[in-house]
This record gives sequence, C-alpha cells and structure tokens, in this order.
Amino acid sequence: MTKKRLLTGLQSSGTLHIGNYFGALKPFVDTYEEYDSFLMVADYHALTSLRDPKALHANIINVVKDYLAVGVDPSKCVIFRQSDNQDHMELGWVLNCMVTVPFLMQAHSYKDKVAKGMDANAGLFTYPILQAADIALYDTDVVPVGEDQRQHIEYAREAVGKFNRAYGDILKEPAEKIIDGVGVVPGTDGAKMSKSYGNTIPLFGTKDEIEKAVMSIVTDSSGERPENVYAIHRLLKSAEELDPIYETHKGRYGDLKKMLAADLETFIAPMREKRNAITDEDVKAVLADGVARAKAVSNKTILNVRQAIGIAL
Ligand code: ATP
Ligand code: MG
Repeated sequence: MTKKRLLTGLQSSGTLHIGNYFGALKPFVDTYEEYDSFLMVADYHALTSLRDPKALHANIINVVKDYLAVGVDPSKCVIFRQSDNQDHMELGWVLNCMVTVPFLMQAHSYKDKVAKGMDANAGLFTYPILQAADIALYDTDVVPVGEDQRQHIEYAREAVGKFNRAYGDILKEPAEKIIDGVGVVPGTDGAKMSKSYGNTIPLFGTKDEIEKAVMSIVTDSSGERPENVYAIHRLLKSAEELDPIYETHKGRYGDLKKMLAADLETFIAPMREKRNAITDEDVKAVLADGVARAKAVSNKTILNVRQAIGIAL
C-alpha cells in the first residue's frame, strides 16, 4: 500500500525548549515514517514578521539542525526550504486569485497578530494562502497541526476547493491531523513553557543551563509533592518509577530537583552531542537534496495548474 503524504512546516522563532520537544518534535519523530513525509522550512513565511537578515539566516540553519538532532533521518523524509522552490510563489499567486479579501479578513491568526502590534503587511494577510500552496503542491493528504491551527487547514481546503470548482479536479484537498501531544508542559514558573515567557528549560542547553533552570522551578508547599517538578519528571520516567522516590523525599525539593536535572542531562546529552556534530555544510547538503526531491513532485502540479488556467501555450 502506498503511504499517505504528510507535510509539515518548520518555523524557528527562537531556541527550542523541552515543551516544544514533547509537544511537537517527538510526536513528529514517532510517526513520520508511517507517511511519505515532507518537512518544509517556511523561510518565506518568516518574512511576514522578521526583517533581520542575520537572524533569518541563522534560524534556517538552526531549525534543520534541531530536527536532525532529535532523530529525523533525511533519507526517510524530504527536508527542503520553501524559498528554494519557486513553485510555492507561483501557486501562492494563483490561489490568492481564488479567495476574497473578506474571507481572509476572518483569519484568527491575522487578527491576533495585528492586535498584538505586529506589522499588518499584505504578506501577513495572505499568509494562509501561501500555506495552502505549500500543501497543495505536494498532493498532501495530512497536515499535522495543533488545535490552534485548524483554521489554516480550512483555508487551504477553501482555496483548493475554489480552484477545483473553477478548473476541474486538479489539486488535492488536505485534511488536518490534530497531534496528540503530551498536553501542556509547564515552565519553571508553573505557566505554560513558552519561548516568549522566559520560563523554559532549553532542549539543547548545557548541563549548567539545564541545572540552573531546574533549580529555579517554582515549588508550592501546599500539596503532597512539588507538582511542576513532578510533571516535568513524568515526561522522562513512569509514575511507578517516580512515586516511591517522591514519597521518600517528601519536602526535600532540592534533592528532587537535582534528580530531575540529572535525568534531563542523561536524556538531553546524546541529542546535544549529535547537534554539535552537525555542520552548516551538512544542513546545506540536506536542503539541496531535499529541494530536488520536492521539485520532482511540485513541478508536475504546477504544470497541471498552468494547463488548467490557460497560460500553457
Ligand atoms: P512562543 O512563545 O513564541 O509562542 P512557544 O514556546 O509557545 O513559542 P511555538 O513555536 O508557539 O512555541 O510552538 C511550537 C510547537 O511546540 C507547537 O506545536 C506547540 O504546540 C508546541 N509547544 C509549545 N509550547 C509547549 C508546551 N509548553 N507544552 C507542549 N507543547 C508545546
Ligand atoms: Mg506558542
């Protein structure tokens, strides 16, 4: 049986933390081989919010290193860059001509970002349609997303549907696959661990950085055990392993944190080592190979689209 095709986009907006790992990277690593998987670095999407060439350049390299370090094998999925394949811009334009401005104005993410003070540039406004093109170019069946991104897949379906109603069944309508994550990993202050909250345990941090972050976890003495410490510990060990330890170390929060820091170090050290061994040149080679494989699929789609809309002479 042929595998279904999966496409996911990578955005690197900062240093990854263990919440990102357990909520997004690990679920991907655990399932991507069941699909014909495409991993796209969404660097042109990043231009909607980032106007710092050095940062954009570094982000592109870093996000690929992160995924390789956590175990994604580039021979088992296509890792490529959006900007390396001009088909994305071309289909993005065509699909932009399918949807209306009032339809785009309903996008939650656009409204939220502008409400937070982000520049309301036209790229940000039409972003969901470039994303629709990213998906449709590869005859994508499933797009793994968090619950918050469900609307984007609906947008892709709408744009593709309008195209198909006008020109025949040319593009595939994607379905979303809501990821079963681990729920929300708490940060050192007990709120959701988030890059932008300064409450993270860095995924590729040094031993000292991890220890420092763990020692700063807020504990509250009202319960039987330090819940935030325990919740993070449970990502690494089972309740059967942990419960007796937490029982015998009741009230000794410092000791429990030291054990958590040691367990995190054991878990992270091999990935950190692997990441340190990946060079920028390795990343460029992976992306060069990836875009050739990506174009082998997308060039066919674009030819069909050109035929259908009447511009192929
Ligand atoms: P920001 O503060 O910029 O929103 P973030 O830390 O929330 O950053 P995102 O880039 O928004 O990270 O999310 C990347 C992925 O990691 C998403 O799939 C998201 O669901 C997941 N993720 C982020 N934070 C957590 C968390 N605390 N627990 C579990 N999953 C998380
Ligand atoms: Mg977030």
